Amino acid sequence: MKTILVAGANGKTGREVVDLLKGMPNYKPLAMIRNPEQQARFDLMDVDTVIADLEGDLTQATQGVHAVIFAAGSGSQTPAHKTIEVDQNGAIKLIDQAKANGVQKFIMLSSMGADDPDHAPAELNYYLKAKKTADDYLTAAFTNYSIVRPGALTQGAKTNKVSAAKKLNQKGKISRKDVAQVLVDSLTHEHTRNKTFEVLNGKIEIPIALSAL
Ligand code: NAP
Repeated sequence: MKTILVAGANGKTGREVVDLLKGMPNYKPLAMIRNPEQQARFDLMDVDTVIADLEGDLTQATQGVHAVIFAAGSGSQTPAHKTIEVDQNGAIKLIDQAKANGVQKFIMLSSMGADDPDHAPAELNYYLKAKKTADDYLTAAFTNYSIVRPGALTQGAKTNKVSAAKKLNQKGKISRKDVAQVLVDSLTHEHTRNKTFEVLNGKIEIPIALSAL
């Protein structure tokens, strides 16, 4: 069983990722949480947890880990400095720790628009710049990465169908459940290796959509 560290495991997308990994024969999720009170729900699922804050010490978080799925984020309501501390510097720190501990793959949940923050709406500029900085760091630091850039996330149903491409040239939405499936499929799908790509809801089965990357 390969251990997959899920950063942001208690978040809305992170929980979906943990649920998917829990049902897979070859993978074991390790939920990274920052508050011990969040541990109970993972204990009930028989999912291991590691308590680590992206603003704090991460030295233990990636030990014995095969791959990282980064689904954490400071949220749009927090001040800009948390975006830098969590989405940018926290991600970079976790990338460094993962590399130091021999983690094989790092999968980043980024955002559509992170390729070109200066052309994004002003209120998203600081956030997308932080995501871009972390994404750029990952591409330079890791020999096996995937960077997934979804449109607006919804609580919609799982469809197992998406549109995926390096650049989709359109705006749109996608359910967190489908994004979680794309993140998990990126662990093994050869066409996601060292790729940065956008995803939206769509009509193509996820493995086929990823094969076209
Ligand atoms: P979410 O529900 O807000 O979950 C974010 C998770 O990050 C939470 O579990 C939170 O922990 C954790 N976190 C925050 N600060 C942390 C820290 N300092 N150390 C460790 N963990 C920390 O997020 P979501 O809605 O699933 O979205 C996930 C990510 O997708 C976003 O952060 C964003 O980067 C990206 N994205 C979002 C959208 C969108 O439409 N919302 C679109 C494109 C991309 P707690 O549970 O303890 O609060």
